[in-house]
Amino acid sequence: MSELEEFRSETRAWLEANCPAGVRAPGAVHGGGTKLSYDSDTQRWMEVMAERGWTVPGWPEEYGGAGLSQDKTRVLYQEMSELSARLPLSNMGTRMFGPTLLEFGTEEQKKRHLIPIATGAIAWCQGYSEPGAGSDLASLRTRAEDQGDHFVINGQKIWTSGAQYADWMFCLVRTDFDAPKHQGISFVLLPMDQEGVRTRPIQLISGASPFCETFLDDAIARKDDLVGNLNEGWTVGKRLLQHERSGQAGLTASTGTRLPVGVTVDLSIDQVARDYLGLDDGRIANAQLRDEIISWRMRESAYNLSRQRAAEESRQGKPAGELTSVFKLYGATLARDRQDLTDRVMGIHGIGWEGDAFTDDEVGVARSWLASKAVTIYGGTNEVQMNIIAKRVLGLPD
Ligand SMILES: Cc1cc2nc3c(=O)[nH]c(=O)nc-3n(C[C@H](O)[C@H](O)[C@H](O)COP(=O)(O)OP(=O)(O)OC[C@H]3O[C@@H](n4cnc5c(N)ncnc54)[C@H](O)[C@@H]3O)c2cc1C
Repeated sequence: MSELEEFRSETRAWLEANCPAGVRAPGAVHGGGTKLSYDSDTQRWMEVMAERGWTVPGWPEEYGGAGLSQDKTRVLYQEMSELSARLPLSNMGTRMFGPTLLEFGTEEQKKRHLIPIATGAIAWCQGYSEPGAGSDLASLRTRAEDQGDHFVINGQKIWTSGAQYADWMFCLVRTDFDAPKHQGISFVLLPMDQEGVRTRPIQLISGASPFCETFLDDAIARKDDLVGNLNEGWTVGKRLLQHERSGQAGLTASTGTRLPVGVTVDLSIDQVARDYLGLDDGRIANAQLRDEIISWRMRESAYNLSRQRAAEESRQGKPAGELTSVFKLYGATLARDRQDLTDRVMGIHGIGWEGDAFTDDEVGVARSWLASKAVTIYGGTNEVQMNIIAKRVLGLPD
């Protein structure tokens, strides 16, 4: 038996013995940290997986991972999929900040911050966007002043996902107001539980508050929590965005497809078509929608094959550079189009908000349709991805 096959059979046996029944359903445990609590099966799953380093299987063992090769990581996720075991931990620490710190952090920073991410002890949020700096992120104005062994930070962040539940924030701040805008930015880390940090959840029409306004009034970040060099945070911040886009586009290994943020129901479009349009001689009864579904399925297949190839080609742990923008753009558009199509196939049943006339799935589809609009915005809008592709991938002039 090859080493990989041996690993597969050991992994299968271990997962069967240790994966609690309550987490054998597709999805992922988002969050972690000190402010959210979980049911006992979820909590146990996070703990037993963290003990083996399998919440972040590709990270080195000394930082809470298992040091698995790409092949073994793939096998682990395949075996988890077989059991429908959900990802034990998928948050901004595991997907975005941790991989960035592995590349840019000092030894001391890695030792201090990575293990609490891997165990789910600490949750992170992303302090990038500001009221006047979204697509043009480098216009950010949150100011950090050097006070010897620490920075004092003043400014406002917005759309900070999960800030109300986060323990720490990775944050882009301006440390030089005279330098050209990309060159005066630094990447700092700060604890959320301090006097100078206040969060105000932004309530959506659905009633949910997935993100916050975050006010920084004399907030403190330790000097040894500066990641990378002073005024060179743009390089670190951009790399983190590539990790973010890789995750959103499904380029990083994981179990199954990841649903866009806020999308709660994952119905097969074929099944929806059979249920709501019916069959005519074995084919979906509405010719126009049938064509659109086939066309969408072809785009999805081509996309899945392309991202498999890109994932195999990319070196372990490193996102595929500017190519991530191609996948983020296409993946986001595909996800949004799928929700549009599902909604149209369901007709009036796809626009229910509440009430006995609609099933839970139907209400979920209406909400997911609204939420799917966000996928073409977060992590950089579709237009921004097209600009990056034009400039950095195709080499077109400004
Ligand atoms: C669900 C969700 C979660 C988010 N979570 C976070 C988070 O945790 N942390 C964080 O920091 N941010 C977060 N964001 C913010 C997100 O990164 C920004 O919304 C995004 O970068 C766009 O910025 P903006 O909203 O300021 O829009 P704007 O930049 O004002 O853009 C408005 C419109 O103009 C277009 N546009 C802008 N510039 C150009 C251009 N040069 N060429 C062509 N078109 C252009 C855009 O594509 C868009 O359609 C989140 C957003 C969403 C929706």
